[in-house]
Amino acid sequence: MRTRFAPSPTGFLHIGGLRTALYAYLVAKQTGGEFLLRIEDTDQERSVPGAVENILSTLHFAGLDPDQKPVIQSERLPLYKKYAAQLQRDGYAYPCFCTQGRLNQMRKDQMARKEAPMYDRLCCALSQEQIKKRIEAGEPHVLRLKIPREGKTIFDDDIRGTVEFKNWVVDDQVLLKSDGFPTYHLAHVVDDHLMDIGLVIRGEEWLSSLPKHLLLFQYLGWKPPRYAHVPLILNKDKSKLSKRQSDVAVEDYIQNGYLPEALLNFVALLGWNSGTPQDIFSLKELIDQFSIERVQKHGAVFDTDKLNWLQGQWIRKIPTQEFAERIRPLVEKGFSSARIDEHFLERAALVHERITFFNEAPDMMAFFYQTSDVPLDVLLNKKQHVTEANIAQILQTIIHTLENISDWSPDALLEQFRFSAEKNKLKLGQLLWPLRAILTGKPFSPGATEVASALGKEETMRRLKNASYKC
Ligand code: GLU
Repeated sequence: MRTRFAPSPTGFLHIGGLRTALYAYLVAKQTGGEFLLRIEDTDQERSVPGAVENILSTLHFAGLDPDQKPVIQSERLPLYKKYAAQLQRDGYAYPCFCTQGRLNQMRKDQMARKEAPMYDRLCCALSQEQIKKRIEAGEPHVLRLKIPREGKTIFDDDIRGTVEFKNWVVDDQVLLKSDGFPTYHLAHVVDDHLMDIGLVIRGEEWLSSLPKHLLLFQYLGWKPPRYAHVPLILNKDKSKLSKRQSDVAVEDYIQNGYLPEALLNFVALLGWNSGTPQDIFSLKELIDQFSIERVQKHGAVFDTDKLNWLQGQWIRKIPTQEFAERIRPLVEKGFSSARIDEHFLERAALVHERITFFNEAPDMMAFFYQTSDVPLDVLLNKKQHVTEANIAQILQTIIHTLENISDWSPDALLEQFRFSAEKNKLKLGQLLWPLRAILTGKPFSPGATEVASALGKEETMRRLKNASYKC
């Protein structure tokens, strides 16, 4: 199956576009077909410089490189003109000379009468002779598709099932604009045919235009592809995801440190589920398991918490050695002593379990490279029964517990603290909470004995003694 992704270069590739590209890629790959890219730049006014480069680099980042050189519509204008002329010659299209002023007024009147705005076909009644005269006089005009007023168009959408439209509600679509550029409607039909696309996957905003597209295929004597219209992406409040409300450019997510695996996994699940409890999918697993029939009809809610959870899952899948190499330059930039840290790998492993973004690493690892004055309230903990009244004594117990230990592994340390807690009639948490708080200076961090082990005995004792003078 050949599929395509056909973005208009009107800005940075957005999340919805990445999802469409992914679904098209998956269908192509699981059928041993090709995934193609087409740049739909026939609306020159809306084209934005740099957008094509951004589309290409974002697809590359995500691992969705197209199988062929992209097709650029603005380089194929004579092709669209040729088919437009064929449609006109066969009586399926007609020139329209109506001015923008007339069209605006017509629209206003129709809306005042509570009618759906539609071209009133004034120019459809022009004779060949009148048309010839007006064209020769240089009157600007467009070419419109002549939609039959009777009958209906029925089709099967791979996601939405059977859909039916009465032809009389379909507008006589402009196919060629007065500047000679084709509209999306003509250009994409021509290209989907010439590129031999088997399944068109696109946003549901195009569903209502499908009757026009199917008629164009019929009038040009071509077999249409299959279609799958993917649901809208919604904000949590169920409004349409839009630039105004949220970050929608994939570029922003890349800049913010999201992994391609997490983003792909996330967009795959925006409207699709495997029917199993699995929610972590690699690209390979998606190729194996994705099916367009399992994409839902209703809107898919964009849940940033889920994205961040997936990001955490994917970051933890990175081998620790590689993870350490990725974060090391960031940590070294913050703390020059990290450059000579022989225990970096072991220390990185501790934060690997808790991190969501690489750039959190310097802050999470700061306590290895700097000591800060730990405020008393970070040491105290009501739930763990660590109070102002007993903190001094608890600190002495911690110091005594650690003083004579030589096996400095987290497990051995924990064993000693268990023993000490029992002997001193304390709860384990009463010892571990202040120990962790003193060593890290933070209310949240890796576990106490892991941190102590990673810091080493000398540094641990130094920090404990330092804190005990203040209590
Ligand atoms: N250029 C259209 C868009 O960006 C593509 C629709 C399609 O895939 O056919 O919405």
